[in-house]
Amino acid sequence: MLSMRVWSRLLRQVVDLVVPQACLSCDTPGVLVCADCDSAIRATPGRARVIPAFVGAPLHVQSGVMGSPELLRVITAFKDGGRSEASSYLGTLLGGTVSAPAHHLVVPVPQSPGAYRRRGWFPLRDIARAANLDITESLTLRARHVDQASLSADERWSNVAGSMWVPPRRSTIIAGKSVIVFDDVITTGATMVEAARALYAAGARYVSGVTVAAMARRWPTYIANSQPPHDDTGRRQD
Ligand SMILES: [Zn+2]
Repeated sequence: MLSMRVWSRLLRQVVDLVVPQACLSCDTPGVLVCADCDSAIRATPGRARVIPAFVGAPLHVQSGVMGSPELLRVITAFKDGGRSEASSYLGTLLGGTVSAPAHHLVVPVPQSPGAYRRRGWFPLRDIARAANLDITESLTLRARHVDQASLSADERWSNVAGSMWVPPRRSTIIAGKSVIVFDDVITTGATMVEAARALYAAGARYVSGVTVAAMARRWPTYIANSQPPHDDTGRRQD
């Protein structure tokens, strides 16, 4: 039996075949992303940035573009607005800047169970497919994790520190490998740092990151000062 969410997705795809689509950002009819929004989204190419070392090594993160209001609307329409066809567009933003060497693993950041229940699918899987990236879904969230979307920068860090792990049966895949962490947007860097910490803990040789977009121009002070508010076990100190 297909779930209601799967049915509604299929129905949406059928409707898109019959009813002309509208710009994912501004609703201009007849296009997936209109020329004006596309120009705004691609106006500032993403650049490689380095998160200072508190995961054992500096963390290099490459983003396809710098974030813009137009792109945020596209991503919201994609992840929570039923516009799953946006994966092709987001994939092109990522695919232009990211090429994973054959010996690297690309590991997506995990989606919270709550987000999975709400959406019924895993958006990063679709973006990766559109960008021709083979992903290895190795990271898992511990049960207490809360969805990041509604939290402030400091709350995000507290929420995310120590929240991920690689289950033992998957550690054998990670051990000794160079791993690229994959996410749609990097905002505070907290999620990326936590993913890197968990992958190093599972024996990864080297961890870097890629995202479709980067929102923050500078890292929050806790990252700039390289002082994570958790101890060596990865648990938060209250
Ligand atoms: Zn538009």
